[in-house]
Amino acid sequence: MPTPLLVIAALLGSALLTPPAGPPALVTADSLIGPGVSHELARLRAATLSDISYDLRLDVTARDSAVGHVRIAFTRTGSHDLVVDFRGRSLGTVRLNGRDLSANEFQYNGAHLLLPARALRDGRNELAMPFVAAIAPAGASVIRYHDTTDDSDYLYTLLVPADANQLFPSFDQPDLKARVTLSLTTPANWTALANGALASDDVSERGRTFRFAETRPLSTYLVAFAAGPWATVTDTVAGRPITMYVRQSRAAEAEADSLISLNGRALEWMESYFGIDYPFGKYDFLLAPAFPFGGMEHPGAVFYNEDRFIFRERATRPQRIGRAATIYHEVAHQWFGDLVTMEWFDDLWLKEGFATYMAAKAQDAMEPSADAWKTFYLRNKPVAYGVDASAGTTPVWQELSNLDQAKSNYGPIVYNKAPSVLKQLDYLVGPEQFRAGVQRFLREHSYGNATWRDLLHAIADGGGLDEWGSQFILRPGMPVVEQRLTLDGDRIGRLTLVQRPARDLSGAGPWPMRVELLLAYADGNDRRLPVEMRGDTTDVVAAAGLPAPEYVFANAGDYGYALVMLDDRSTGWLEEHVGEVKDDFLRAMLWGALWDGVREARTDPARFITAVQRALPAEQDEQIAGALIGRYVRAATAYLPDSQSTARRPAVEALLWSGAIDTFRSYDVRKAHLDAYIDVAASPSARARLVAALDADSVAALPLRAPTRWAIVTRLLEIGAPDAERILAAESQRDTTSDGRRRAFVAGAAPLDSAVKAAYFARYLADSTLNEDWATSSLGAFNSREQQALTLPYLEPALDALPWIQENRRIFFLGSWLGGFLGGQTSEAALSTVERWLAAHPELGADLRSKVLQASDELERTVRIRAAAERRRP
Ligand SMILES: [Zn+2]
Repeated sequence: MPTPLLVIAALLGSALLTPPAGPPALVTADSLIGPGVSHELARLRAATLSDISYDLRLDVTARDSAVGHVRIAFTRTGSHDLVVDFRGRSLGTVRLNGRDLSANEFQYNGAHLLLPARALRDGRNELAMPFVAAIAPAGASVIRYHDTTDDSDYLYTLLVPADANQLFPSFDQPDLKARVTLSLTTPANWTALANGALASDDVSERGRTFRFAETRPLSTYLVAFAAGPWATVTDTVAGRPITMYVRQSRAAEAEADSLISLNGRALEWMESYFGIDYPFGKYDFLLAPAFPFGGMEHPGAVFYNEDRFIFRERATRPQRIGRAATIYHEVAHQWFGDLVTMEWFDDLWLKEGFATYMAAKAQDAMEPSADAWKTFYLRNKPVAYGVDASAGTTPVWQELSNLDQAKSNYGPIVYNKAPSVLKQLDYLVGPEQFRAGVQRFLREHSYGNATWRDLLHAIADGGGLDEWGSQFILRPGMPVVEQRLTLDGDRIGRLTLVQRPARDLSGAGPWPMRVELLLAYADGNDRRLPVEMRGDTTDVVAAAGLPAPEYVFANAGDYGYALVMLDDRSTGWLEEHVGEVKDDFLRAMLWGALWDGVREARTDPARFITAVQRALPAEQDEQIAGALIGRYVRAATAYLPDSQSTARRPAVEALLWSGAIDTFRSYDVRKAHLDAYIDVAASPSARARLVAALDADSVAALPLRAPTRWAIVTRLLEIGAPDAERILAAESQRDTTSDGRRRAFVAGAAPLDSAVKAAYFARYLADSTLNEDWATSSLGAFNSREQQALTLPYLEPALDALPWIQENRRIFFLGSWLGGFLGGQTSEAALSTVERWLAAHPELGADLRSKVLQASDELERTVRIRAAAERRRP
């Protein structure tokens, strides 16, 4: 039987919002029980509450709601009223220290429960109450995924950053860690996974009840469970049993052995680097369907994105390396984030930056062939620089007044800039001091919380990193480093590095940095000079008098964090010869520097296109080939003025097609060419080739799998191929899997048809049954570049929807939304729509304004680059 409830949601009116009887000593009631969790409330609770535990019972046998009961034990000091957070569906009778409270003894406003100080004891208290929380495909803390293959339901939680209180009454802030005991009742044929080890498992007429052992202290956002008819695989790695949970319909495809082994080996490596045993007892993981993140680091129960972990077609090397990097990232979090947690989400970077940086260190040590630092560069630097050089950038540490804004702190600054500046820090202080500092930090704050200042203090072993912290952590934006080279005959006369901010934002002075400067010579006797930048201009004294190099590069090894602007001599040489540079990692960075010259509107995109056309046919590195193809397509289709772009289109199609069918090249390189070809194919002959590929189910002996077939179908719809609707219908019949249905939905957004666009746009904002993952996946097809005239009218409504999205969608949806609607536009008209919209909304929160400025930076550059290219025309 479900727990009986006194549902008081209907009673929640203004009468319950009156201030509490006893005035709290520090703050007004409004700020304490207003929406979200204010920093003020969090500070007050952190100062007065301790030794918290939740004894949580949940019954998830009903389809749309979890019926629960929680017992919260805690120690309390001071004379303040108590605020408990709860935004679930309804709340039952509240019991305090063994006595049921009557309705006039506390307040509940739908977000918080306020108990007056006079009702509470000094010291230990126990609060208990039944409640109901929602289960839904989207917009709830318990996500329900329906598997159409075998008609079964799977549930999993996702509480980060502040949705634990949507599931159960709690003190929902990262620095009130608690021990959690969970008991979960499910349908009889289900299994379940949670943070704690399974203690018992009983079947009764209500269903099956799983009881999990009490956890070590956890932040509320890290509490997790999953329930459903999961298939499981258990294996032991270095003496540690690890169980993988996966949907039954996908179990056969999951590479259980290698996934379990990667998790186990990463745990072992981290234990040794950190000098601390794995801190949470058991370790299992789940492959979560339609998961909105890449992974989530719940202690003892890591969730990974099923779609990125089970490949639907032969995986490329970059995909495999990316999957391993995600595993190392979540495993590193068990120490950085879970064992030691940020005090508040203003320090989100601390856990995310470290997890990504440690993942690269682990990959470098465990898989030398992965070329981990090249991967780290390609996956982090271009993205970090892209946002950090925009007007919407933020500091790495981001002030946060309320947890309900915490979603805004997620993005490339914490995921890509933060690990990059940690790489610089490691190089600056040296690897031994860095590691010793990290170990000290983790030991001192185990099962507790800390701030970035604690980390720098531990690494600096007392002090000396203050300037580094204020420039890299507190200051928004990034430096540009200009190489200035003067020759004296065939020798270097003078070489200087000149630093300036990429944008005029707050802060002043140079970013203190240590870099490795490369002087490259035709005979291979390259010189690498360590250079310390402490001022705006750094004279590289050691270079003067050396023979003139072929080229100079101021960030060899990728230790620095800066946009390097090459000098003219280096640019000229590299445009001709970059493909001949043997070192893959270096070659990747040099291409990056050439590309940055284009994005800064210094180099004509046509020159970059020519350089790629020369080098790409010989490029064997699959990651570099992928990055080059992406830039080539961007330059050719968006950066060139329309007339030039149209004239070049046949050459672009020809280059990509020849790479796709070249059977002497590796699968990965061919696949990258084919994917890009599908993305740009527009000519009648390209259309015919795509249709023929679908019919033959292969491209030059490269078999087509479902994802590629669907990409072709989507492209045919985008460009209005005559038979496209019939082809879509046929493909939908051919692939009836749940992924096939998702991809059919994506393809459905593609046609050049205003009625289709109107219907999709309405569904994005009003259809509560639409899975976020489906919506996200379809934004690219909705906003295809060729259709920008048709989709431009949606730009303003898309911007108008931002506050609603921020409130109702998960962390990464807003960025994908902006990326979709802005990414499809390249015109001045689109840019001025954004500028007018920003000017017309002075009330917009600073966080949303930043996100818009970050996302519109590429549009602004595109317009600028096109204008400059137009001016250069003879
Ligand atoms: Zn993370």
